[in-house]
Amino acid sequence: MGLKTLEIVTIDGPAGSGKSTVARSVAEQMGYTFLDTGAMYRAVALGAIERNITATDLEKLTVFLNQIQLIVRSGQDMMRLYLDDIDVTETIRRPEMGQHASDFSRLEIVRNYCTRLQRRFGAEGRIVCEGRDMGTVVFPEARWKYFLTAALDERAMRRWKELQIKGEVIDYDDIRNSLKKRDFQDTNRDIAPLKPADDAVILDTTKMSIETVVSRIINDIRSNVSQNV
Ligand code: C5P
Repeated sequence: MGLKTLEIVTIDGPAGSGKSTVARSVAEQMGYTFLDTGAMYRAVALGAIERNITATDLEKLTVFLNQIQLIVRSGQDMMRLYLDDIDVTETIRRPEMGQHASDFSRLEIVRNYCTRLQRRFGAEGRIVCEGRDMGTVVFPEARWKYFLTAALDERAMRRWKELQIKGEVIDYDDIRNSLKKRDFQDTNRDIAPLKPADDAVILDTTKMSIETVVSRIINDIRSNVSQNV
């Protein structure tokens, strides 16, 4: 196993499990690059929808994927996405974009497109990437793999609070139902379904603070790095 594969941290899990916050914080503290791969699926879905392409129109989608330029600028605590030079970082966070991303992410051509892009970042090493298939498909050789879970009610409450802070008032039950539907779809799709890698550490974050999860991961990495020095 090369040094570079040793420096990939994968964090997978369902929506609202705390992956993004944890991944960003681990990356920041370790000086690694943070990669939010859900944002890529959201950007692809946004671009397709803006061009009136549906997830059933594979021909148009293929042409679209060959033409678009999805630029990802990623740092330790930030990531911005540009679709044909337009900054879509905020637009892809609209609540409905999660389900749209899930609809498009079932398709092989979309997965191949995003996986290729993600592996390019991985080639640089020193990366913390979060998503649904980081430990199983995109970086199966990664040294540190985590799968975060949390009870549905807790995940829905976290998402509700996040949206409240942004000034978006959405009914708690609607959020809960949409998370449940999306997780079901992500878990039951044919390609790269949401599931822990066999060698992933599973952390139930329902009653854990973000800080506890982050320090657990950082301790794992630091103790392993020192063993290898
Ligand atoms: O993580 P986020 O909620 O932004 O992801 C949006 C959607 O993108 C997920 O529901 C999932 O369908 C898809 N996704 C994926 N594989 C990843 C990351 C996200 O299929 N690695």
